[in-house]
Amino acid sequence: MPVLQLQTDVKFVKGVGPRVAEWLAQKNISTVEDLLYYLPFRYEDRLNPRGIAELKAGEMATVIAEVRNSAVFRTRKMPIFQMVAGQGRATLKCIWFHGEYLRDRFKPGQLVALYGKVENEWKGRGLQISQPQFEVLEDEGELANEAGEIESLEVGRIVPIYETAAGAKLTSRWFRRIIHGALRDLASDIPDGVPSALVQRLGLLDRRTAFDLTHFPQPGESFTALQDYRTTAHRRLIFEELFFLEIGLELKRRRLRQRAGVAFELNDKVREAIKKILPFHPTAAQKRVLKEIAQDMQQPSPMRRLLQGDVGSGKTIVALQAAVIAMENGYQVAFMAPTEILATQHYLSARRTLEDAGYRVILLTGSQEEERKRSARRHIAQGGAHLIIGTHALIQEKVEFHNLGLVIVDEQHRFGVMQRFKLMKKGGAEPDTLVMTATPIPRTLALTLYGDLDTSTLDELPPGRTPITTRKVSDDRAQEVWDFVKKQVAAGRQAYVVYPVIEGVPSDQPELEFNGTAPTSKSGLKAAMHMYEELRKKIMPGLRVGLLHGRLDPEEKEATMHKFQQGEIDVLVATTVIEVGVDVPNATVMVVEHAERFGLAQLHQLRGRIGRGAAKSYCVLMTGGKVSPDADTRLKTMVRTQNGFEIAELDLELRGPGEFFGTKQAGAPGLRVANLVRDRQLLELAKAEAARIIEQKDPEITAADRDRIMQHLKNHWQRRYGLVEVG
Ligand code: ADP
Ligand code: MG
Repeated sequence: MPVLQLQTDVKFVKGVGPRVAEWLAQKNISTVEDLLYYLPFRYEDRLNPRGIAELKAGEMATVIAEVRNSAVFRTRKMPIFQMVAGQGRATLKCIWFHGEYLRDRFKPGQLVALYGKVENEWKGRGLQISQPQFEVLEDEGELANEAGEIESLEVGRIVPIYETAAGAKLTSRWFRRIIHGALRDLASDIPDGVPSALVQRLGLLDRRTAFDLTHFPQPGESFTALQDYRTTAHRRLIFEELFFLEIGLELKRRRLRQRAGVAFELNDKVREAIKKILPFHPTAAQKRVLKEIAQDMQQPSPMRRLLQGDVGSGKTIVALQAAVIAMENGYQVAFMAPTEILATQHYLSARRTLEDAGYRVILLTGSQEEERKRSARRHIAQGGAHLIIGTHALIQEKVEFHNLGLVIVDEQHRFGVMQRFKLMKKGGAEPDTLVMTATPIPRTLALTLYGDLDTSTLDELPPGRTPITTRKVSDDRAQEVWDFVKKQVAAGRQAYVVYPVIEGVPSDQPELEFNGTAPTSKSGLKAAMHMYEELRKKIMPGLRVGLLHGRLDPEEKEATMHKFQQGEIDVLVATTVIEVGVDVPNATVMVVEHAERFGLAQLHQLRGRIGRGAAKSYCVLMTGGKVSPDADTRLKTMVRTQNGFEIAELDLELRGPGEFFGTKQAGAPGLRVANLVRDRQLLELAKAEAARIIEQKDPEITAADRDRIMQHLKNHWQRRYGLVEVG
């Protein structure tokens, strides 16, 4: 039997071979180590499977039962595959929509493991599971080939469930067997880059055992701990991953600090210029934050600063003041926004604020005509443009700056991490960076995601704001809502009405419940385009109604936004394109239809569009259709509080870690076990330990330990974490 090392090519693992190795490569699995990091995403308790007779509707359950019969039924809408499984006299119905492909999958008498949500039978009295995940436990032929040991991988234990790969050609069961074999053939002594002193002090499992137990947990293991990646084995692998990530980042930070940046001068002339552009008295918080930024900018090393401030706290003007410092010093400033609408709005308002003072502001977005883009790029390259506002177009290779001194990134949570680095490389000297976000980010997380970031917080709203009144109503009261909108418009105010979709999208979902009589799209959702017509022609014919959504071309968007800003549109029907940053202080009403469909962060952002002036503002969250318990919690939270930090915390809780920052950004590139949000505490720990080692503050860590750490990083950093090389 060959002994496998961690770095052994995966094709040498028993049962793999060259062709399968190619499939695995698509999942970034090319060594034995990669394979071992392919962890089960959940587990099934087949040691204590559930008896059918004791199942209750609503629970997730694993059931092991015998196939009784199966058949395809044709309904008017779709073919449904039904399989009945039994234990003694108790039976359980399983159904799969569009399940013809399962026609020959089950044979009476076979043992199957089923996993899914138990529900009441449709129009029947029994229980059923629809779309269960399943495994046939006695596929013919297989038992004959494999030893009895194999069978014990599938039943009578806690069973690991893997994501399938290569278009389901590599099944969960396949991974289970292959990984089991790999662990059996793996050398008993595998290298561990985490210093043993640390392993002991923190009470970590050794690496080998950690691999064994995450894949094949012992019978006594807590089932919830397993599902939550909280067993000692999981924690060991998570810590290890975060530890090396933090070591690498720490080294990078040190190098960054040594890099040459721009030391801006802040003399009386510059101070004068900063003050001159202010259209209002800054709040104390704005003054304090600007001071923090200005201090950084005067340093010769590049600034890395995160500016957090709830929606409406007035981040923009602070950013423009920072821009003035750079421009007065003869440098260019790049200002990136996540959407074209927002970039355009920043562009228009920056021009109002800055052009009289002689700064030249230009706009560069992806969808501009090629001619306009080319001329913009020319101005940027020649230095004729001082403040360049744009979207992602700004980070495209073709844009060359004359002398970029400051990069401002608005609403950072919408950008990927790497994009920011790309832009920073454009200039000669390292430009300063100011990142702005309305999403409060825990400090360690911010440090890990964005590198060497210092934080400033705008914790005060500009004066004269009255709290927004938020109401949650069902859309059978829509008429009252529209009457209210009309009244506000009559009083000189403006309103937004937001929809979840642009137009009716065909849906192959089994019909959604919908209780309204209002016009709906096929998906059961009221759509912006349709409702625009309804509102304009039937519901509020006297008013000037506008329409804004992502599919309009940029000129149309710009024109509509401009009209709304100028007060030439009373009611703006929109999709979430207006979610971020849009600033029209005279708008005092935000109506969100199908509010149950929106996430908390989204709703908070949407509500942030109003309450920006002195007049009292109102947010109406209209629900249409079924409101799930989670959605209900979201809406109640919105009614209860306006505090962005509280809302973000709850959002994190409700949505779980993965989606909080959008999947891509939840993990730094390449994290395989750890999740930066879920594992916040381990991240703190890993960061502290990494810093101690780099600063050589840990007497227990030997030079040999340090060599091993560097060696591990060399082998893994580039490939695993996908980050820049370590120096
Ligand atoms: P955000 O932090 O959400 O980006 P903005 O920068 O868009 O907020 O500011 C929100 C609104 O508050 C804008 O209309 C802006 O002009 C106004 N504003 C900002 N600071 C002040 C201030 N100190 N006094 C009065 N209004 C302000
Ligand atoms: Mg903003």
